[in-house]
Amino acid sequence: MSVADVVWRSKGACQGLDAEIFYPDNEDHADFAISVCSQCEVRIACLDYALDNREQQGIWGATTARDRRRMLRQRKQTA
Ligand code: SF4
Repeated sequence: MSVADVVWRSKGACQGLDAEIFYPDNEDHADFAISVCSQCEVRIACLDYALDNREQQGIWGATTARDRRRMLRQRKQTA
């Protein structure tokens, strides 16, 4: 993990919250995590990290794993 990653993570709106909120059993139960992310000042850095690292689990930058797979497919198609 780079220093830049540490910096944005320390500013996340999820700091201090139960990490399990961001790893729901079912993506249909991700509404609260997504609402926290939606108000997070480092949402874009978080999403970029998740996309770059192909994070397969959890809510990152207000996206589910399914959302990110779709975004990566779209990136590939437009590349
Ligand atoms: S976007 Fe969500 S998961 Fe990422 S740092 Fe912000 S609150 Fe945490």
